[in-house]
Amino acid sequence: MNFRIGHGYDVHRLESGRPLRLGGVTIPHQKGPVAHSDGDVVIHALCDALLGAAAAGDIGAHFPDTSPEFRGIDSVELLRRTVGLLEADGWRVGNVDCTLLLQVPKVAPHIAAMRGVMAEALGVEVDAVSVKATTTERLGFVGREEGVAAEAVVLIHR
Ligand code: MG
Repeated sequence: MNFRIGHGYDVHRLESGRPLRLGGVTIPHQKGPVAHSDGDVVIHALCDALLGAAAAGDIGAHFPDTSPEFRGIDSVELLRRTVGLLEADGWRVGNVDCTLLLQVPKVAPHIAAMRGVMAEALGVEVDAVSVKATTTERLGFVGREEGVAAEAVVLIHR
């Protein structure tokens, strides 16, 4: 079997009065990402990791933020389409591991829901989807609550 790994990273600026969508789940908070899509950094990092593993470009190339087709789009749909692109090339997802960097709010109560939503879109069992979250100890743009970031690592095979 042929195995590949991939890594993805994404950041969005946070502003008051926008919905905070992370890992396909809406989390109650007074700030949310400024973005063309729903600004879901967890899923954007995950899509880039998947595309990176397949050496198939990046999320911006496949789903350009200049296209009206993707304005306000649910990133879960972008994840489904990304998996579809890989599957068309014979790739299957092995497992994924995501790290969310966010100062507030606490996301622990929402991790199980994120794993479920993303597992379904990925076509894998929930135990193949890891989501972890950390603050940055009030350091940097994440610590100042100016932005949210995420990293993802994936394994694919065919
Ligand atoms: Mg993004």
